[in-house]
Amino acid sequence: MNIKRNVLLNPGPATTTDTVKLAQVVPDICPREREFAGLMKNLRRDLVRIVHGDERYTSVLFCGSGTMNIDVCLNSLLPAGKRILVANNGAYSARAVEICEAYGMPHVNLKQPIEAPIDVAAVEAALAADPDIAVVYTTHHETGSGVLNPIREIGASAHAHGCTFVVDTTSTYAMRPIDIIDDNVDFLMASAQKGLQSMTGLSFVVGREDKIRESASFPKRSYYCNLFLQYDYFEKTGEMHFTPPVQTIYATIQALKEYFAEGEAGKWARHTRVFEALHKGLAELGFRNLIKREYQSGLVVSVCYPDDPNWSFEKVHDYCYERGFTIYPGKVGSAKTFRLCALGQIDAPDIVEFFKVLKSALEEYKIEVRYA
Ligand SMILES: *Cc1c(COP(=O)(O)O)cnc(C)c1O
Repeated sequence: MNIKRNVLLNPGPATTTDTVKLAQVVPDICPREREFAGLMKNLRRDLVRIVHGDERYTSVLFCGSGTMNIDVCLNSLLPAGKRILVANNGAYSARAVEICEAYGMPHVNLKQPIEAPIDVAAVEAALAADPDIAVVYTTHHETGSGVLNPIREIGASAHAHGCTFVVDTTSTYAMRPIDIIDDNVDFLMASAQKGLQSMTGLSFVVGREDKIRESASFPKRSYYCNLFLQYDYFEKTGEMHFTPPVQTIYATIQALKEYFAEGEAGKWARHTRVFEALHKGLAELGFRNLIKREYQSGLVVSVCYPDDPNWSFEKVHDYCYERGFTIYPGKVGSAKTFRLCALGQIDAPDIVEFFKVLKSALEEYKIEVRYA
């Protein structure tokens, strides 16, 4: 089978290998068979292994996109009468705030500037001022801007105040090395189509098993999206409570094999090569970054629109798309940006090819890369 290879420079789903794509083509199977339950047991163990969790940690699978994990963690881990603190410097933490609002859960929206990492002192001050906060939540890498947050320090502060620390690691997991223990994280999350380079439809939470058990007595704000209920069903039966994304699970098992074969350090080195190549190509064409280089995650570049009136993101996007490269709009407040991302099974030579295409798009539409 010959499958056209596209280079996705959007923030996930990412470019996958043909072996991962083809792993989905399997004989029909009822996911209630023992054979399938066995696959999920190993998968759950491997998801903990990626972030170096020990026997105190487990993973819980859900059938949905990454936002489902945010919903699950927030609605499941808040004890009665307590509050959530959201350390919020971007679109994904803002989504967590919206989820708190939707459930009517008491929360503090600690809003921080969008172009810089979270100020740990501000988190510490908010915790010191409010003893009713039980859960601290933030986003490791704000994918909308490309800013990386200091989770180890925020986690230390959360733990010093007896809080559970929940981090959205959807756009770093299986890319930037994470150590769930050293990074002071109680719960983190991701979905299969980002760092793992698998398909959409499978999301998962990795976290402290004792805290999941403890949450059994917390208010149940959702039936389908409750962490303890999903965990408990798995423990009792080895299965997901409701129909799993069968083909995505096969693809993810193959993706995990490929992850461990490349290795944590090797994979991060490859993403770093791609990121450096993106910066090099952008600098050569004269594009500017919105976010200071030292604040960047190493995975996403937010590129400022040039001031030439001929600039049209849509036209440039379509030109590149027709040639196998996908670029993506920005998500940083009102700033006019687009994003180039280093996710997926791509390497520096793909980026060299991309910049040839981008350069010819600029020529085609007579766009001059200049800033007022
Ligand atoms: C992609 C992403 C999500 C999940 O988005 P979905 O569209 O629901 O898959 C959540 N958080 C972050 C930081 C992300 O990058």
